[in-house]
Formats: sequence, C-alpha cells, structure tokens
Amino acid sequence: MPADDKKIKDRLKKIKHKVLVLSGKGGVGKSTVAVNLAVALAAAGKKVGLLDIDIHGPSVPKMLGVQGFPIHGTKDSISPIEVGDNLRVMSIAFLLKESDDAVIWRGPMKYGVIKQFLGEVEWGELDYLVVDSPPGTGDEPLTIAQLISDADGAVIVTTPQDVALIDVRKCINFCRQLSLPVIGVVENMSGFSCPHCGERTEIFKSGGGRSMAEDMGVPFLEQIPLEPGIVSASDLGEPYVIKFPETETGKIFASLAATILRLGGKEGARSKGAEMEKHKSKVDKESGQNGVAQENSKKDVSIRIAIPITDGRLTMHFGHCKEFALIDVEAGKIAGTETVDAPDHQPGLLPEWLGERGANIIIAGGMGSRAKNLFRDRGIEVLAGAPCDPPEQLVETYLAGNLELGDNACDH
Ligand code: ADP
Repeated sequence: MPADDKKIKDRLKKIKHKVLVLSGKGGVGKSTVAVNLAVALAAAGKKVGLLDIDIHGPSVPKMLGVQGFPIHGTKDSISPIEVGDNLRVMSIAFLLKESDDAVIWRGPMKYGVIKQFLGEVEWGELDYLVVDSPPGTGDEPLTIAQLISDADGAVIVTTPQDVALIDVRKCINFCRQLSLPVIGVVENMSGFSCPHCGERTEIFKSGGGRSMAEDMGVPFLEQIPLEPGIVSASDLGEPYVIKFPETETGKIFASLAATILRLGGKEGARSKGAEMEKHKSKVDKESGQNGVAQENSKKDVSIRIAIPITDGRLTMHFGHCKEFALIDVEAGKIAGTETVDAPDHQPGLLPEWLGERGANIIIAGGMGSRAKNLFRDRGIEVLAGAPCDPPEQLVETYLAGNLELGDNACDH
C-alpha cells in the first residue's frame, strides 16, 4: 500500500462512521444538507467531523460562521477548526487566501489536495465524519469514494426538477459501481410552505425524488421544502437546524440525523450487501446440488442483473418470459452473461428463483408494484419501464447511467 494511502487509512481508522454527501450537480443544497446533518449529529451528543472537500465551491465555513479562520498544523498534520463542543471542521476554503479566490485546480492538484486532506487532517477520535463532496460523478468524488473505501454510504441530494434529468441516476450508478451503499436520497427545495398561511406550493413540483428512488430501488429519506430561513441562516453563519429546531424543516434535518444515527456503521448501511452475501452462502449450503448458486459464490459476483428475454431481447411479459439473461458486472463492466430457461409460471416463484441465482438487480419492461415489493423484500432492486433492447445493450446503457425508464407497462 502506498505510504499516503496508509496514512489516510490510519487517520480514518479512528472514525467510527463515515458518510459521503453527494449530488449529481451543484447548487442543489448538498452543502446545506451536509452542514445541518453534521450539526444535528453533534447536537445529539456525537463527536463529529465535517470535511468540506467541494473544491469548486467550498461554502461550509461561511455556513458555520468560521470563514477566514486561520488553520494550524505541524509538518504533517492539519488541525480542524473546533465549532462548539462536538464539531470539528476542515474545508478547502481555509487554504485559500481570499474567500472568492477562483479555484482552478488542475487534475493532479485536485487529487493531491484531496489526498492531503484525508491523510493530514488530524480528526482524532470521531463518531461521525460527514464529507461534503464535489458534485457530479467525475474524478473528484471518485477519488474520495475510493480513498474512503470503508464509508458507511452516501446520502444523495437532489432537487425535484433535477430528477427528470439523468444526474441522480448517474450518481446512484456511480455508488453501485464503487460498491458504496446508497443510504438514501434527499429531495431538497421540494415545495414551498407559505410562512403566513401555511399553504404549500409546488414550485418545482415535488415527489420526483421519491419515485426516482423507488424506481432505482434505493431508500428515499426526506423532502426538505424551500425555506427562506435556510438562506438567511447560512448567510449569518448559523446552521438552520440550531437556529430553528422547532420548525417543520428543523425537524426534517433532525429526522435525517436520526436515520444516520440508526445506521450502525459498516454492519448497518453495508448490511444489505452482507444480507445478500449471507443469503447467497445459505443457498449454497442448503443446496449443495445447486450448480447455479455454487457457480455464483465462486465468482464472487458483486452485481448480477437479471433481464427477462424472448428472442434475444427484453420482453415486456416478465412473468411469462422464455428465458432470463443473467449478466455479471464487476468493476463497472460486464464480466459475463448466462442465459437460463425461465421456470414454469407459478405466482410468487420468481423472487426466490432469481434470488437463488444470485440476481440483485432486475431490468424489466413492466412489473406490478406487488411483484416489485416481493423482489425488494429479497434485496433485489427492480428497474421497470426499460425498452425492448438486447440485454447486454441494456446493461451497458444502465452502467453508463443512461438507461431511460419510461412508463411501467404494468404499474397498477
Ligand atoms: P450545493 O452544495 O449543492 O452547491 P448549497 O447547499 O450551497 O448547494 O445551496 C445553494 C444555495 O441554495 C445556498 O444559498 C443555500 O442557502 C440555498 N438553499 C439550499 N437549500 C435550500 C432550501 N431548502 N431552501 C432555500 N434555500 C436553500
């Protein structure tokens, strides 16, 4: 292991839980969520670190009222700024002379800065590290996710109108390719509650985040409304959740923190994967004769996508398809494809049948919500509404983050 990586590992070892806050693009409220989440966790009595590594627009110091604070350190360590009793903060902004210095980093510099932050910030013992990552799915969040390889997972922030775009799906696929668990999606700027009459107006329409999360098979966590107090609190450097804890929005941030408190770390957020592994080995043990299950365990498959096909293309008739294509994905690429005859049609059989064959994602044309739930109960995610393309083409498109899910033909 390179010396730098070892240094990062050693520093991060002292932190119990690491949560990455990601977004498909900038300006959706990622830093707002990261700050209020970190502050709410600290208010719950946890020792928290907040790392602002959004090198294009580091806004955390301003939001916490510590802009321009000098940082101290030794030859090979930097000390975070203490904010209150339980919160320590480090931001790329502290390294810039003026707060509005343009941050134009060349690729290797960005990588170096990210590594330096992770390796040199002396956090000490922490319960939680919340990381405000750069937006998008490019090299910068990739570097962070790879360097913090044991993160509990990612909270993905979006706004309702963005979900019509492909950004958030890309973000979820990005996590999947890195085996980074998606803790869930937060829909920010979701509707506006009038402070005078309380009436809610859907300015950007809301609910898109929820249905997208459902489609992608990831948890939907919270809807945060457009709230003028968030802007004024940020401008004053006083986190909203501390200034207005009793408001609806204050309670939403607290509820997000409660979700993170319930994670229980690697054994928690990563447990879905672990459950799947447990299930797989149970199937392997119970069915010593079951060649398919044994074959799966040998290959150490991380993603296995099942697609119902007829004549070499996805068929809309999920329950009555002739065959299933089982496509293994490793390190973001197709690693192998197997075509198996579908079992005779029997209601309720397929979740178990596909589960035994190691499938953890299904790409389908149409599927009713009851069937979808049965698959989810078995830890299999369903992406319904896909076009009738050849299966490998569908998986390539999915891995590129471009799989368009249209109407789910059976959504009744
Ligand atoms: P990002 O980190 O995604 O670039 P920020 O958290 O910096 O986004 O938010 C962008 C701007 O939107 C900030 O001025 C912030 O105060 C404001 N903002 C974020 N969430 C809300 C909200 N729910 N209601 C009103 N303003 C918000």
